[in-house]
Amino acid sequence: MKLLFERSRSGRGSTLLPACDVPAVSYDQGLLRAKTPHLPEIAEVDLGRHYTELAKQTHGVNDGFYPLGSCTMKYNPRVNEEAAAQPGFTQLHPLQPLETVQGALEVLYTAEKLLCEITGMDGMSFQPAAGAHGEYTGLLLIRKYHQSRGDSARTKILVPDAAHGTNPASATMAGFDVVSIPSNPQGGVDLEALRKAAGPDTAGLMLTNPNTLGLFDANILEITQIVHDAGGLCYYDGANLNAVMGQVRPGDMGFDCVHLNLHKTFSTPHGGGGPGSGPVGCKALLEPFLPTPRVKEENGAYSLYTPAQTMGQVRSFYGNFLVVVKALTYILTLGKQGIPAASAGAVLNANYLMKQLLGHYDMSHEGLCMHEFVMTLQGLAHDTGVTAMDVAKRLLDFGIHPPTMYFPLIVHEALMVEPTETESPETLDQAAQVFLDILAEAKSDPESLHHAPLHCPVGRPDEVTAARSPILRYTFDD
Ligand SMILES: *Cc1c(COP(=O)(O)O)cnc(C)c1O
Repeated sequence: MKLLFERSRSGRGSTLLPACDVPAVSYDQGLLRAKTPHLPEIAEVDLGRHYTELAKQTHGVNDGFYPLGSCTMKYNPRVNEEAAAQPGFTQLHPLQPLETVQGALEVLYTAEKLLCEITGMDGMSFQPAAGAHGEYTGLLLIRKYHQSRGDSARTKILVPDAAHGTNPASATMAGFDVVSIPSNPQGGVDLEALRKAAGPDTAGLMLTNPNTLGLFDANILEITQIVHDAGGLCYYDGANLNAVMGQVRPGDMGFDCVHLNLHKTFSTPHGGGGPGSGPVGCKALLEPFLPTPRVKEENGAYSLYTPAQTMGQVRSFYGNFLVVVKALTYILTLGKQGIPAASAGAVLNANYLMKQLLGHYDMSHEGLCMHEFVMTLQGLAHDTGVTAMDVAKRLLDFGIHPPTMYFPLIVHEALMVEPTETESPETLDQAAQVFLDILAEAKSDPESLHHAPLHCPVGRPDEVTAARSPILRYTFDD
């Protein structure tokens, strides 16, 4: 497809500026740029068609089923957008006097209270802009805590091998050494290995429960106890909270600190690069170290304050405020009945789909799953040469976004499927049929699957080149 620059024709445009109604000013001609900037000149109709064509090349939740494991690509109710689009929210300036932004502060304050109730935490900061950013912030909290006690020996973070890739990356960014803890045959944390690894150099543990295999670790109280006994703190990667919100709380599982992905669980569209929000919640012992500023309420008036031993700021101002507005709208809409119903629906849908595929596709683990399940196509690849990648690409021909591929790393030829609660039984039945049809194709005509997708605007891009040497600038002839 043509780029806007290639569609551009000199003299064409979509703007009609009114006649100048202020006096002309003389200025230093030396300030003028030597060359006019390369801005595309294009008529409104062609501009509209350009973006429509671009939108048709991709796949979003509005196009069809999007079971991208661990990403919670649920449908985001439009009412959240409407709330976040109120001019009273969109036209604020972050430096406005506090008495003129009481409503916005109330949003932050109320969202903090409700999310603390959902997670079992005492305080929360909305500054982090994404999940990984929240992990980084939470690890700095843990670091500040140990430093404040004069304990400088705690340099290690324990991370199970089933962890999301951001966990070891964030721990390294925060200056810790990562110790990988193996999984047991049931897909949970190997307790013996954890006991061996935990000690006076343990700063903390980072864990997702349910983990990236879609399994809830029933030993969780013992796990957090082992780490606490060794003097470490426990960090909960809450990006998968969609499986458990309203059912069980990280705070009650023994965690000291948690991040949430508002752009996954709390219904903000994501996948196109943001804006997101990865708020960090913590127990009272970590609250003094939270980023500044925080919101407090006294006699119905909201104001800002700086926590006693704050780590400073991890982002400008208050984070991505409008994402918090959407999350608050979502929580208030669902309420105390709706929140647990949503997580129950997510778990039900995942098991409903898994059950239909069971016996046809191999699962990484037998038994019930939580919000997602992981298939292993190792046997299929061995028998037919058809890989997880081939199956994932073929799904696109049927209007289904591929599941997460080749992750978690401990499962070979993995496809990780997360249907979410917002899909109907009809959609899940159709998806199951497509999975089974592709399996039949793999057995009858494996060769054609290596070329899938056959009917999409883009076939198989060279992903290594796309990742390593992306072309991000248009080069002009002159
Ligand atoms: C998505 C995800 C993250 C990272 O969140 P980002 O907002 O993409 O940085 C971390 N952990 C888990 C388990 C996730 O699913």
